[in-house]
Amino acid sequence: MHPILKPALRRGWRDLNTVQFGVTRAHARVLGPVDTATGSFLTLLDGTRGLPLLREEGKRMGLPDGHVDRLLHRLARAGLLDDTTGGGTAADALRCRPEVMDRLRPDLAALSAVTPEPSQGIRKLAARRAARVRVQGTGRVGAVVASVLSGAGVGQVEVMDGGCVEPWDVAPGGLPPESVGQRRDAAARTAVRRAAPGRPPRHPEDRGDGERPLSLIVLAPRDGLDAFAPDPTAAEPLIAAGTPHLYAGVIEGTGVVGPLVLPGATACAGCLALDRADADAAWPRMLAQWRSGGRRQVPACDLALATTVAGLAAAHTLAFLDGAEPTLAGVRWEVPAPGLTWHRRRERAHASCPCGASEQVKGERTSVDREPHDTMAG
Ligand SMILES: [Zn+2]
Repeated sequence: MHPILKPALRRGWRDLNTVQFGVTRAHARVLGPVDTATGSFLTLLDGTRGLPLLREEGKRMGLPDGHVDRLLHRLARAGLLDDTTGGGTAADALRCRPEVMDRLRPDLAALSAVTPEPSQGIRKLAARRAARVRVQGTGRVGAVVASVLSGAGVGQVEVMDGGCVEPWDVAPGGLPPESVGQRRDAAARTAVRRAAPGRPPRHPEDRGDGERPLSLIVLAPRDGLDAFAPDPTAAEPLIAAGTPHLYAGVIEGTGVVGPLVLPGATACAGCLALDRADADAAWPRMLAQWRSGGRRQVPACDLALATTVAGLAAAHTLAFLDGAEPTLAGVRWEVPAPGLTWHRRRERAHASCPCGASEQVKGERTSVDREPHDTMAG
């Protein structure tokens, strides 16, 4: 172990013997009291020294026996310590790719800041390299989600879409102008490859066909209606396969992120459809008309809003891959322009939905807490 004080957390002395690590409420920690000798010892924790050397230096600085080990234990328990050599073989393999590491350095620092244990950050980053995600839809939202995931170190990002790139599919971070006229899936694949920080390592689970299990599918349809009111029939295979999936899109002037569906555990497309129909008897009739709408128009989609939605969807996807609490499960965020105030909407599992999620949450449900936010049925 080569201990290092997490470089991602800015350090500052609140007074002569209290040191604060980190700035923001979510991740800052205060350590004290710290005497002067210990304070100067902290500067040695920069990842260049192993334990024996640190103990030796501690002795030379007049620190009592066992003090260095106790201090390291205390720092580790407070989530302030990282290890520049730990994380296992996948982490070592990643360290051997300096060009990849340099690209991912800020992402690694961020992971280190939000994970408590030493080496957990690089472990998670290495795990991303082994993950397989699919993005369906390669418009202004989907192609950006796919590129961001690839750029953030997800090893295998697949894209699916039909037809050819139209000029209005082009977006910074997504499909480039020169891809207009190419097949959408091929163009998005190129964008994903360009965004990737180097080729991912071969995975032990890779079979002959190069397939790993899908960790998650992001459904980012070019027509935002399919994200706002997702089609239960289209989601059936995902529910049956138990594949987690996340909806994201822009409809008219509103951005939509979520829900993340954990099949059989949290609200799915079918639950949403049933819930809307309960709240508004005309909903199915309206939906049928919206879906059929004869002449195909270019759907409204504010570029900045689409980029925001893509970024948030990618961030939630990465958090899910990294093993964080899936806060979008059963939750949808809606952000209407031009105010751009985010609204959180709880999506409940519906008792009549065959996905069975309502059975799961029956015990957890507290009360009928209809959220006042939904004004559609007003
Ligand atoms: Zn359901």
